[in-house]
Amino acid sequence: MSPKSNPNASTTLPTQSKQSEFSLVEVDTGSSPAIDDIPHTKASGLIKSTEVWYADGDIILRGDSTLFRVSRRLLTKNSRIFEDLFDIPQPDVGCLSEDSDDVMEGCLVIQVFDPPDHLEGFLKGLYDASWEINVNTNHNLRLAVGVLEVSSKYEAYPLRERVISWLASVYPPTISAYRKRWETWSKNPSERYFDPRNITLVANAARVSQALALLPAALLHYLEKFGSDFSAIIDAHDAGLALGSDRYEADLPLLTRDNLSSILKARSRIAFFARRDIYGFAFYRFRKAMCPRGEEEECLRGKREWVDEVEKGSPDGWFSPLVGQELWEMEMCSVCEKAAEENVELKLQMLWERLPGMLDLLRWDELERTSRLEAPPDSGPE
Ligand SMILES: [Zn+2]
Repeated sequence: MSPKSNPNASTTLPTQSKQSEFSLVEVDTGSSPAIDDIPHTKASGLIKSTEVWYADGDIILRGDSTLFRVSRRLLTKNSRIFEDLFDIPQPDVGCLSEDSDDVMEGCLVIQVFDPPDHLEGFLKGLYDASWEINVNTNHNLRLAVGVLEVSSKYEAYPLRERVISWLASVYPPTISAYRKRWETWSKNPSERYFDPRNITLVANAARVSQALALLPAALLHYLEKFGSDFSAIIDAHDAGLALGSDRYEADLPLLTRDNLSSILKARSRIAFFARRDIYGFAFYRFRKAMCPRGEEEECLRGKREWVDEVEKGSPDGWFSPLVGQELWEMEMCSVCEKAAEENVELKLQMLWERLPGMLDLLRWDELERTSRLEAPPDSGPE
């Protein structure tokens, strides 16, 4: 829905777009002062934001019951949607009663339908080009997704690019960064464990708001986390679909249809690549063993036992090529081990390059271009 088609566009903006239904963030900004402390709040219980309230602001945005006083020029300069909105003649503030909710302190109040904390992050980001959310806790990650949604919805592109780069610290465009991403995750005990619902939160928001460079890593993470039980994925999505809701409280957090389609296709492609290319030296017996004389049998047995172990946990063939497949658990001879290490690193890199294609997405460079995300220089596998 475009705000241009909204008959009430002079005082309202479109309702929160669909992707925000995935939001897990509470709407309370937590930083607003008690209502009694505020002189200008009215009977309707409106609360001024303590962080985004500029005395020289000439417009007030209202999200739920929180008010943000900001500069119309700043919004116009940074957001194509607000630029269009303010092109439409606004009601004359002088004709509106200060007793109504439509005007306060001489400023027109515009109702928007974004959660106040997301809106607050959006406005802070517009006001301060150096403002940043460190995406190293569940709370901050959810907030950043909210700001991604709001900045995409209002077409505030420079801020959107910044938010995508913050989120890319968790879902990066390189495999080396993907493997190292938890090194900077929270040291705070209450936030130490990554909430797996955030995988779908990011993946679904990235899909809907076209921040596509985040998708391969997020969807691979989904498969790593939930991919072992194919029928559970299907059942959860079927049940969600039958109830007509993407908020269905399933054991598995639900993906959007496009994301679901991507992972269902990629799952067998990844498993096949992992078996044939990455760990082919173990799954398939090679005629020419490289093992030192006398160690062939033991080396072969080590590989076979490792394969048996993998197969036990993967009744239908899926296993994550990245998680829990530690090579040192495979008791090979030193020659095979060295060759295996090199092969696994090389082929994992190849898997990463092909991952977008396996997910039916564009190539990495195209994804980065559509998301306007510059890939950081790859330091290569560790
Ligand atoms: Zn060997």
